[in-house]
Amino acid sequence: MDTMVKNKAISKEFDVESIRKEFPILSVKVHGRPLVYFDNAASSQKPLFVIKAIEKYYETVNSNVHRGVHHLSSLATDQFEAARKTIATHINANIDEVIFTRGTTEAINLVAYSFGEVFVKEGDEIIISHMEHHSNIVPWQILCQRKKAVLKVIPITESGELRMDEYKKLLSSKTKLVAVAHVSNSLGTINPVEEIIALAHAKNIPVLLDGAQAVPHMKIDVKKLDVDFYCFSGHKIYAPTGIGILFGKEKWLKQMVPFQSGGEMIKEVKLEASTYQDPPLRFEAGTPHIEGSIVLATAIDYMNNIGLDAIAKQEQKLLDYATEKLSAINGLKIVGQAKHKAPVVAFNIEGLHPYDVGVILDQLGIAVRTGHHCTQPIMDLYGIPGTVRASFSFYNTIEEIDVLVAGVKKAIDMLKK
Ligand code: PLP
Repeated sequence: MDTMVKNKAISKEFDVESIRKEFPILSVKVHGRPLVYFDNAASSQKPLFVIKAIEKYYETVNSNVHRGVHHLSSLATDQFEAARKTIATHINANIDEVIFTRGTTEAINLVAYSFGEVFVKEGDEIIISHMEHHSNIVPWQILCQRKKAVLKVIPITESGELRMDEYKKLLSSKTKLVAVAHVSNSLGTINPVEEIIALAHAKNIPVLLDGAQAVPHMKIDVKKLDVDFYCFSGHKIYAPTGIGILFGKEKWLKQMVPFQSGGEMIKEVKLEASTYQDPPLRFEAGTPHIEGSIVLATAIDYMNNIGLDAIAKQEQKLLDYATEKLSAINGLKIVGQAKHKAPVVAFNIEGLHPYDVGVILDQLGIAVRTGHHCTQPIMDLYGIPGTVRASFSFYNTIEEIDVLVAGVKKAIDMLKK
């Protein structure tokens, strides 16, 4: 697609200070202090490259897609479909396997309904894990209630890793789908997805990966993974909210029933009955989030211009440093100590409620998330009310982590007095 706005990070050494200048919000003050934004797992900030692309869309392209013969409608349609191509290339999918959704949540709901309707019947089983985001629990509970199927759960260890021995035992001829997170949003665990998929496929069971926390940090190749469904959200990869992606293998999508119905998803409508489009349009009822879809591709261009390897390297550096410095604080316990982790450090301080720590950090300009992070079953398992979670992006710095560490020490001093 026409990327329209020059990205200053193109073909340059990784230079965090220059990159930060591309994110206007990073220079705002919060309570009179420089913002330290460590809530990236909830939503990322947006670079000018993306902000300007939104402006440009409304200034020069805005129109509805797939309908009009007029110039603007063709332009919008071309850019919308070019965006689909960019996204397909980014994850190494075929273009017709890429469906625009509102986000990861809608993508999972789509599969739970449209796959579940066709392939799941009474007595069948769906496997999830104990570390799933609510978005990858509740849709399967509803499907299981609707179909009288059974939800099975892979247990996790104290350090926050999947019990692969137990997973193997759960796979059976009754299993219709395995749906697990690629990366845990509250523990940071990177799951052994290749092994998860291989074990399921050995029994002809398809696998859905919730990639919401993986796509911001690593290269995803759906063909290499051989995954059946892969879901992610635009707002976690520097694009706007309200746009996301469901990748589905053609062999499944073709057999699945529509999720929502109305315009765009039909071939022909008669008052007696209607016929449906082939995928992906079958699953895109109504006017889509056109600007969001186009700008999602812009955000992907932005990430690729910086380079996924450079992003991963910077984020690993931040993760290692934060883990070392935070662990050294007396009474602080990191929740989620898997061997392979994304840049997420969740912790608790003995005797303190995570919410109180979060409030003090906010007063210091530090944005962290506190609570259960939409993963209540993890908190119940570990017997904690929640955690304080700092999650990093490539635009964060070592100095900001020092500010966090000092802030946590200050919170301990204030709250323990
Ligand atoms: N899955 C995981 C692992 C997440 O972290 C999130 C959001 O935090 C979601 C799913 C839901 O994403 P969204 O709210 O963008 O649909």
